[in-house]
Amino acid sequence: MATISKRQLDETLAAFETTVSGADATVKLKDDKLFERLKTFKETTWFAKSDDLSAPVCARYGWINRGLETLYCPTCENTLVCEIPAEASPEEVLAKSKEYRDNLLTAHGESCPWAIHHLDDTAYRLPLSSPAHTIQAFRNRYKALSQHPPSIPKIVFNESQAGRSVNVDLLHQNLHVDGDESEELTRSCILLALFGWEFPNEQATDFLQCRLCARIVGLWNYDHIVTLTDADSADRRKRIKVAQDISVELPSHFDVLWEHRSYCPWICTPPGSGQQKLGWIATLDTVLSAGKPNRLLAHMPPPIPKVTRTTTALESA
Ligand SMILES: [Zn+2]
Ligand SMILES: [Zn+2]
Repeated sequence: MATISKRQLDETLAAFETTVSGADATVKLKDDKLFERLKTFKETTWFAKSDDLSAPVCARYGWINRGLETLYCPTCENTLVCEIPAEASPEEVLAKSKEYRDNLLTAHGESCPWAIHHLDDTAYRLPLSSPAHTIQAFRNRYKALSQHPPSIPKIVFNESQAGRSVNVDLLHQNLHVDGDESEELTRSCILLALFGWEFPNEQATDFLQCRLCARIVGLWNYDHIVTLTDADSADRRKRIKVAQDISVELPSHFDVLWEHRSYCPWICTPPGSGQQKLGWIATLDTVLSAGKPNRLLAHMPPPIPKVTRTTTALESA
């Protein structure tokens, strides 16, 4: 008899649990409080730590980042300083991070609930959801983005770094969204939405945010698609700068992959989380398989099981 693993069971149950709530469908961490803690970790105050001491790990142990290399527990109000000298070798960073990780539990106050309990590895992952929910959430991200053309930055999507090509036209077709946007605008919105990027809300369309790694990026530094005159002048400025050999240049295009934090479930599979595929690949596969002509399959004869015929002792007798 075929057995079903716990993971398969979870995924099957999740498909029934999640209801497709149309305009509300979204992809976010299951635990809102975990996300709120994660938001406090900034590149300027939490850096040069190994995976043992990444922001999601500390947040799973109840800590927020308050001040330079400092963790703070809002429940017991204890702090834990995790200094790693800038000149530390990679081996020292690993050793130090491991040492601090042991303190993530013990540094809480005696009566703090975090001293005996923390969220396990599975708390930080792409949330389980049904294909219908995944597609609806993608469609919602796309629609919201495409309604604000002046906000959309020029984007970079490097297929060889991503390890997978994307047929934007096919995705657009499978999402069943109409619109008369330009080809470049459609492509940008599709790829931003595929990688989980969205406006924080209707009013804050000058930012893109990720609801899994809590990255928020201001869009004013990037070249935009729609404001042609500005884009032209930006291109010109850039050419002039290149000509003058000025080496420091802000990126003019938004990289849909690398703007996420390195631990983001959209672009990696967090260790121990049970997540099988990178978030964007899982989304891509779901939308593509939803567009496959299943109706045709219904009229096809069932596949013939492949039998390797061997002569048994009984037959040869
Ligand atoms: Zn505590
Ligand atoms: Zn992210």
